[in-house]
Amino acid sequence: VIKNLFELEKIAVLGHGNGGTVYKVFHKGTSSIYALKVLRFNDDSDRVWQQATREAEILKLVDSPFVIRCNSAFYNNGLAVGSDEPGGADLSFVMEYMEGGSLQDLLVSRKTLLEKEISEVAGCVLLGFRYLHDMQIVHGDIKPSNLLVNGEGKVKIADFGVSHVVDGGGVARHLLLESCMGTCAYMSPERFDPERWGGGGDGFAGDVWSLGVVALECHMGRFPLTRAGQRPDWATLMCIMCFRERVEVPETASPEFRSFVERCLEKDWRKRATVDELLEHPFVN
Ligand code: ADP
Ligand code: MG
Repeated sequence: VIKNLFELEKIAVLGHGNGGTVYKVFHKGTSSIYALKVLRFNDDSDRVWQQATREAEILKLVDSPFVIRCNSAFYNNGLAVGSDEPGGADLSFVMEYMEGGSLQDLLVSRKTLLEKEISEVAGCVLLGFRYLHDMQIVHGDIKPSNLLVNGEGKVKIADFGVSHVVDGGGVARHLLLESCMGTCAYMSPERFDPERWGGGGDGFAGDVWSLGVVALECHMGRFPLTRAGQRPDWATLMCIMCFRERVEVPETASPEFRSFVERCLEKDWRKRATVDELLEHPFVN
């Protein structure tokens, strides 16, 4: 256990995101490598603080081989690693280091993945979902940059920045308020337009939708819901969600993969496959 941020030495920047930077760090005491996510708050916007605190609480709670592990979290104690960035309060998480980077990085270098590989990714993510959903946690922001790969090629779910613990029906509304923190491209139809879908549901089905988009993106080598080169902005996505019959899966997909993706991308969340159903699906078995 790391007791102080002074024990860590910054080696490199691994990624930037919503108000945070992730560093690769070295822990001298154990000669091991970790990832350190530092969230910096220059104003004291309640919403951002609330969200970061929730991320810390969720990370403290979870313990699964399919979810990023967090060793410790620190408040306002980041000077050792962040002294070149003056001012503001911060919150830091020491996490296991994922050598393979994100699925996003993998897609940039490889362009597409084989179905066998997509099946591996989907299997890991679904086991992660089963764990999280059993704990009543909705991830809410599944996309390639939030799925990380370790040295053994295993995929884990990361970034609980918009996640929620289900507390009797209030989740969908919270998620809606935080809908477009990063990109809304992977967001489910019921989050875009809860009215149309008879209420947003509890949010679990939304994670399944996002997995379907990610799986199809890995096969096609580009964001799959829009036409090639078309930006997945709010208006375009809204059109697709509301008017297009169903998401088109290319001819190149095997029948198993097609069926898997179509079950994830069922627009009506009540008819969409559940995590348990997908774990039994021939594509991941
Ligand atoms: P944000 O909330 O800013 O999106 P993330 O937790 O998603 O933060 O991290 C941003 C990026 O940093 C990721 O997409 C990934 O490339 C890299 N990263 C995050 N955590 C790790 C980790 N544990 N190991 C390796 N790289 C990581
Ligand atoms: Mg992220």
